[in-house]
Order: sequence, then structure tokens, then C-alpha cells
Amino acid sequence: MTQPTKRCARCGEEKPLTEFYIDTRGWGGKSSWCKDCVREYNRQNYAKHSEKYKAYARKYRREHNEELKLKRASHYKKNKVAINRKNDEWRRKTEPLLRQQVLRRFGGKCEKCGFNDRRALQIDHIHGDGAKERKIHSITGVRFYRKLLKLTDSELNRNYQLLCANCQWIKRFENHEYRGI
Ligand SMILES: [Zn+2]
Ligand SMILES: [Zn+2]
Repeated sequence: MTQPTKRCARCGEEKPLTEFYIDTRGWGGKSSWCKDCVREYNRQNYAKHSEKYKAYARKYRREHNEELKLKRASHYKKNKVAINRKNDEWRRKTEPLLRQQVLRRFGGKCEKCGFNDRRALQIDHIHGDGAKERKIHSITGVRFYRKLLKLTDSELNRNYQLLCANCQWIKRFENHEYRGI
């Protein structure tokens, strides 16, 4: 027995009835468009409207900027403890994941000696003078790692390297960044 088929009114293809959604108004109890066509239509339609919606939201944010700022500030003030705790939790979860990704991009071992215990690997700013370097490391881990992950391989390797704590200290000493010895 051959499978019953139906021609899609949109793409014109003859397809088995199972390729059509149920629609009691349609021929054979199925919709006039095939499943692929319905899905494609919904996708396009959604994209069109989500653009419209996003544009509207952007406009609203622009026009109510000051008001929203105040609202956010007062919301923060009222919920400070809970918000900070949530942010801390998020950071504790996110930071090691991002760090792992960054270390992987560097090959996971010290550039100088090959040491590969992640606990003692540090990201070193290759050409950084002392002040610049300290500034970079003072921004929080998540932001720093995200910034590194956005760089291309060549940008990353031109400016940063992975060093173990020993090699990092030796470099500081050789660069006269550390005067304690
Ligand atoms: Zn179709
Ligand atoms: Zn090393």
C-alpha cells in the first residue's frame, strides 16, 4: 500500500501526509502547508517580530533612561544583600569556567618551563610595564577573562602569556619590577 500524499500549497512538493500538521479544516485532515514550510514561516515571522520588539525596547530604554536608572538604584538599595549574594554566587561559578577556557587557549602550561598545575598558573602581560600590569590584574577576574576570550589568537599571544608562579616572580625580578631581593 502506498502512503497517502498531499501537495504543499506553499512549496508545491508532493509529500506524505505525515509531513503535514493536523488541521481538521484541510484536505485529509491536514494543513495545506507542509511541516517544513510551517516551521520556516514561523521562524521568519518570529525573527521579524523579535526585531521589532527589540527596537521598541531600545527606544523605550533610551527615552526613559533617567527614570530607569533611578528605579535600578532604588531596587538595588532595597535588595542589596540578596543581589550581592547572587552576584557572588554567579561569580564563584563563572570565574573558574572562564579561567579554564582562557588557560586552554594558552595550551594549559607555563610558557617558560612547561609547568602545568593550573593552581599556580598566572596570566602575564608580556610587554606590560609594572603599573599597566597591576591595573589589568585589578579588574575582576570575570571581566578580565572575558576580555581575553574576545581577543583573536594572535592578539592574545602577542600581549599575554601563561607563566607559572615561579617564572612570574623570576620575570619580575629580571625586569626590576620587584626590588625586595
Ligand atoms: Zn511545503
Ligand atoms: Zn614556569
